[in-house]
Amino acid sequence: MAKIQMTTPLVEMDGDEMTRILWKMIKDELILPYIDLKTEYYDLGLEHRNETNDQVTVDSAEATKKYGVAVKCATITPNAARMKEYNLKEMWKSPNGTIRAILDGTVFRAPILIKGIVPYVKNWTKPITIARHAYGDVYKNTEIKVPGKGKAELVFTAEDGTETRELIHNFAGAGIIQGIHNTTESISSFARACFGYAIDTKQDLWFATKDTISKKYDHTFKDIFQEVYDTEYKEQFERLGIEYFYTLIDDAVARVIRSEGGFIWACKNYDGDVMSDMVATAYGDLSMMTSVLVSPSGVYEYEAAHGTVQRHYYKHLKGEETSTNSIATIFAWTGALRKRGELDGIKELQDFADKLEKACIKTVEDGKMTKSLSLISTCENPVLLNSLDFIKAIRETFETL
Ligand code: NAP
Ligand code: MG
Repeated sequence: MAKIQMTTPLVEMDGDEMTRILWKMIKDELILPYIDLKTEYYDLGLEHRNETNDQVTVDSAEATKKYGVAVKCATITPNAARMKEYNLKEMWKSPNGTIRAILDGTVFRAPILIKGIVPYVKNWTKPITIARHAYGDVYKNTEIKVPGKGKAELVFTAEDGTETRELIHNFAGAGIIQGIHNTTESISSFARACFGYAIDTKQDLWFATKDTISKKYDHTFKDIFQEVYDTEYKEQFERLGIEYFYTLIDDAVARVIRSEGGFIWACKNYDGDVMSDMVATAYGDLSMMTSVLVSPSGVYEYEAAHGTVQRHYYKHLKGEETSTNSIATIFAWTGALRKRGELDGIKELQDFADKLEKACIKTVEDGKMTKSLSLISTCENPVLLNSLDFIKAIRETFETL
């Protein structure tokens, strides 16, 4: 069979440790035999980031802006231990943070559902996609430990020197205060990314804040979402028969648990941090979670939600067998290839992505899986496969579809 041809390159961001090993296996076994792959390759492995003073990360993000679609391998975010391990010149920032800042994007995370891996919430039969606002609030806070009696005020000084003051509290004794902020620009970008992705994936969008208590701060989030929706997206939503639904955060939490899933849940920064861990756990397995960064201008970067699976990599280095689940990384490739196919009007590329995803799911449903899946699967006699054999099994299934 002739290989599928591409017109525009994908931005390929290679990464670290076990996922870097899987990356090559996936390309060799599942992509290159079928596609005349065009990529612009950026090596975001920590060694190369260090050699280039992290310029490669910036370049890869700029290339994503240029071409529109990227696929990224998990990467190490350096800490003190990594400084030593890789003899780093500096403690380079998280590549995901750098890329997100350049693309001004929102991250959408969704679980891959498979028969035999039953969510803890039994009525969740469809995926819930969480969109977390990635700027401000408590993540950019200023805090003071109040030592004793005194007055705390909130002061805004305009450029012309005019001051606006609000009393926070007259302290009778020791306590704590915290200042947080957000910007109209960032909230609007977040709203646009969410509405755009809802249209893209034809799913309802839910959003919730605590606007009854926070009448200016949270209420502004509600108002901006409503205004962006009414002026820019309402018609398209109505045409597609999808819904924008706003409610209070406590009501949202209760409804999410009772729901069957199948929608996007837009969350403020803190809610998204907490709820994404809850939702991921409830669906069963971190290694089955996909992630896509979407910019308000319609640029996409696909990856797995998990990290570089360091513990497995050290086993691999010692020559021991690993059983690492590659499904989320394969879905990063299929997500990116499908989007490239959509943008360039290449139907074969879209069909290939659909078929490869089906092959992943069918392989596990047929009882062939990696270790962590076998521990939570209801399958009676799962066949445990190592990292490479699992990818080969997916290829065999793919060939039968
Ligand atoms: P991790 O790589 O996600 O792995 C945590 C644990 O989850 C693993 O030890 C493994 O459990 C299990 N796991 C995760 N993915 C798996 C898979 N595909 N197959 C099987 N098991 C899987 O998180 P981490 O160990 O905390 O972080 C390692 C490195 O990844 C860090 O340097 C961190 O900076 C980086 N990281 C990168 C990203 C990203 O690039 N998006 C995201 C998160 C973390 P067992 O060991 O029990 O088998
Ligand atoms: Mg968290």
